[in-house]
Parts: sequence; C-alpha cells; structure tokens
Amino acid sequence: DVNRVESEMQLIVDGKRLDGRAFDELRPIKIKVGVLKRADGSCYLEMGRNKVVAAVYGPREVHPRHLQDPVQAVVRYRYNMAPFSVEERKRPGPDRRSVEISKVSREAIEAVVMKELFPRSGIDVFVEVLQADAGSRTACLNAASVALVDAGVPMRGMISSVAVAKVDDVLVLDPMKEEDNYGQADIPFAFFIRNDKIESIALLQMDGRVSTDEFKQALEMAKKGAMEIYKMQKEAIKAKYVVEQEEEVDES
Ligand code: ADP
Repeated sequence: DVNRVESEMQLIVDGKRLDGRAFDELRPIKIKVGVLKRADGSCYLEMGRNKVVAAVYGPREVHPRHLQDPVQAVVRYRYNMAPFSVEERKRPGPDRRSVEISKVSREAIEAVVMKELFPRSGIDVFVEVLQADAGSRTACLNAASVALVDAGVPMRGMISSVAVAKVDDVLVLDPMKEEDNYGQADIPFAFFIRNDKIESIALLQMDGRVSTDEFKQALEMAKKGAMEIYKMQKEAIKAKYVVEQEEEVDES
C-alpha cells in the first residue's frame, strides 16, 4: 500500500495476528464459478473481506479492428474499484493505481492464456472490486483465472496469487488492511501453476523494504499459500462442472 504510514500500531500481539491467524495462514476464501449470465465465464471470490467479481468475454472479434493482432489474441484486463468498495468513497473511473494494476495483472494472465490459438481475437477480463481490504489485486487475479477456465479459454495453467507482508519484523501471508497499511513491506505475488506445480512467477511487486533473506522466506511462504489457493480454485471449478452435469441428467 503506497499510503503506508509509519506508526506505533502493534500488529503482532502475543505471537498472533490481529485477526488471530498464524503467520503463514490465509484469510478464508470463498469461490463461486459462473455467477454472471451474460459473460462467457465468471467468478465471484472472497479473500477475507475482499469481495470481487471477474467476468470474461471471448475469444471474440476485436473492435476497433486496428487493435487486432494477426498472429494471436489480444488480452485486455480491467481492474476497477467500485466507489463503495473502500471506506471513503472512491472516485469512479480509472486512476494511476488501477491502470498499473490492470497492466501487471494482464501480463500475468497473458502468461497462461494460449493466445496463439486465436489470431485477430480479443479476450476481455473485467474485474470489479466490490469490497477492498488489502490484496484486492491478488483476489482479482485468482477470480480472473477461474473465470477464464469457466469461459473455456484454453490455458497452459492457472494463476494463483497472494501477498506477503512484513509487519512488526515478521513475515505474514495474505495481509489484511491493517497489516498492509501499518506494516513495513507488502509483496504481492502471482504464480503460474501447471500440472499442480509452480512453474514461474507471473507477477511480483513490492513496496517497503525487506532483507534478501526475508525476501527468500517471503517467496517460500507465498508459494505455499498460492498452492492452497490453487487447490480451492480447482475445487470450485470442479464443483460447478459436477453440478452442471447433474442438472443435465435431471433434464433428460
Ligand atoms: P491491494 O488491494 O492489491 O493490496 P494496494 O496495496 O494499493 O492494493 O491497496 C491496499 C488497500 O488499500 C486496498 O485493498 C484498499 O483496501 C485500500 N485502498 C486502495 N485504494 C484506495 C482508495 N482510493 N481509497 C481508499 N482505500 C484504498
């Protein structure tokens, strides 16, 4: 969080985080696949108090046509915060922060989408933050990844994303708002996961300061967290698929 303030606020009390979590514990995650009728794929996701929706459209024809790429699909990603998603009303529309988040998130998504299969086409990913509580970009990437699968977009793998923060001189997984605001560093990660294994880092940002050793620990912590998220993403997709199959059986 660029608005971080140095303060005396104690974030670790008796070896526990303010919300009672262990240092390496994720916030509760809820994932629902296929929540929007008009999108080709969609996902509603909660990560702690973050509530986000992702909608995927495409592959479809790109307009205006001069934006088409003759050899591969064009991926667009729009991260947007609802005016009511934060405490003080957020002025609607894009700002520097959301433009930057959209860009780095698109690059992460581009790592997994098989763009080469859809020349001249566009794949649009819209993510809307309904409620923000730190790590909204990671929640959005997790939702976007699931929505892409729901849309049937061919992918090389999944994107699973989580941040690590440094607070009161310790590293904590998946920081919530207070830890992000008053902590010493915030490092959002996104991983490209293929065949149930982390293959590469698709997004990495940081503000604040950590030692190189702490960074290595943060990476390990984030990888474990991302694998947990990945399992939940897969389960959510499977759950929808199973239900749909049962519905089909009922209809026949
Ligand atoms: P992320 O949400 O990905 O962690 P930041 O680190 O930029 O991104 O923001 C941390 C948190 O700060 C957000 O999740 C949100 O709760 C809050 N925040 C961000 N932008 C605003 C804003 N314009 N007004 C109020 N709060 C904001």
